[in-house]
Amino acid sequence: MKKNEKALVIIFGGTGDLAQRKLYPSIFQLYKKGYLKENFAVIGTARRPWTDEYYREVVKDSIDGMYDEQTVATEFASHFYYQSHNVTDTNHYKTLQALAQSLDEKYQIGGNRLFYLAMSPRFFGTICDHLKSQQIMTETGYNRVIVEKPFGRDLASATELNDEISKSFPEEDVFRIDHYLGKEMVQNIAALRFGNSIFNSMWNNRYISNIQVTLSEALGVEERAGYYETAGALRDMIQNHVLQIVALLTMSAPVSFTDTDIRNAKINALKCLKIYSPEEVKENFVRGQYGPGNGLIGYREEAQTAEDSMTETFVAGKLMVNTMDMAGVPIYVRTGKRMKTKATRIDVVFKQVPNNVFEDSDLRHDVLTINVDPEPSLSLQLNSKTIGQGFDFDTHHLNLDYKLSPEQRAAIPEAYEKLILDAMQCRASNFAHWKELQCSWKFVDAIRQAWDQNVDQVAFPNYDCASMGPKASDDLLAKDGNHWEFNC
Ligand code: NAD
Repeated sequence: MKKNEKALVIIFGGTGDLAQRKLYPSIFQLYKKGYLKENFAVIGTARRPWTDEYYREVVKDSIDGMYDEQTVATEFASHFYYQSHNVTDTNHYKTLQALAQSLDEKYQIGGNRLFYLAMSPRFFGTICDHLKSQQIMTETGYNRVIVEKPFGRDLASATELNDEISKSFPEEDVFRIDHYLGKEMVQNIAALRFGNSIFNSMWNNRYISNIQVTLSEALGVEERAGYYETAGALRDMIQNHVLQIVALLTMSAPVSFTDTDIRNAKINALKCLKIYSPEEVKENFVRGQYGPGNGLIGYREEAQTAEDSMTETFVAGKLMVNTMDMAGVPIYVRTGKRMKTKATRIDVVFKQVPNNVFEDSDLRHDVLTINVDPEPSLSLQLNSKTIGQGFDFDTHHLNLDYKLSPEQRAAIPEAYEKLILDAMQCRASNFAHWKELQCSWKFVDAIRQAWDQNVDQVAFPNYDCASMGPKASDDLLAKDGNHWEFNC
């Protein structure tokens, strides 16, 4: 892969949590691995009146423990510059333009600019307008913008946001982050499906009984309660991460493994997502909110939440992707906070053999399990004969534990590290295209509207902390004769 990228990264929100916890460590990894060498600089902007020196100390603190020699950290941090900046003040962009120009010359960057908007989306429009009107975008290199979630709170607001950004950046230069797309085992879905004859030939409604996707979190809302109260699990997790994973699991084979073809395949899958009527939402979706339990406080007792809050912290649903290959295969999805364990897991449950010739034996479904988090692994559950006399069956698992050494584990790129390099190298397939978002918001809006009309007449709280969610989530599968394979 190409090394020594030339890039000026301008981070709006450079003093924020995301920048310090994720962006600086990721940029440092790219530096350590040689993707960034001499020809890069980072400008951090935010309102606080920091100096370059202070900023560099903050950057060094954020990479604490990631280097052996102090000189490496100092040399890395020397590429960082700070500008105190209110994004609504046009004059500040003039100073930014001059700084960007001088750094471009100093580090011989050739005009490549990556703008990272690590702040509230309500500022995206004004930032993008100013980047263009104040000529901070160059004509000699690339101009790409990375935007963070949330991308809107419904289709209307997402469209408004997209319109604002697209006045300055064409679609091919907009990189909408979904960090799940940067995870190793999420990227592995395409490798497994399209790189193996056994899965490729069986990945359809003739052989798959159902697919299950679980994104469970053990933590509660923590310090994000203020935002979470206005979002809820449907917007925070289903609209983006869950539907992106569903698109990768259900898309038809792309014509080739290029950005355009992969994105077209994903867009087509999401276009085939059945949009539910309010009555169908009641049938196919379950919402929940954690109450106190197992020594932990309930959602309504958290700081910054209303004591009668109706915000959902759990969602389970049955989706139908009506492509020729996947029509009729239920896709069960589930996500929640304060669940029993933190995990991201996919189970592909295959149909049983059409005729059980071993009449006296109960054969189980073959199941392909893709563990995304916390540890990457694969497992294939099979029926096989027990060793010894007679002809008894047992369930066995072919397991692929990557058994990584500490060095190999340390070398796994963090999602943000992968995605920042992808944006520098213009690989867009691991970012959400606007058309994908349009489809996912349409789907999510229909559910939200039905819930706002209270079609399901739910009462909160309805699940205990440290459980796997409300009973209705198990019932959702049971009425189809199925059950969650992941039931820790
Ligand atoms: P934060 O509140 O910690 O940081 C916000 C930054 O914006 C700060 O640097 C602040 O100084 C700056 N800022 C605010 N108003 C400004 C103004 N008028 N002019 C200039 N700067 C201004 O937020 P965060 O947690 O870093 O999140 C940033 C964005 O990333 C948000 O959109 C959030 O939803 C998204 N996000 C964050 C995380 C995370 O792990 N923190 C994860 C996913 C998405």
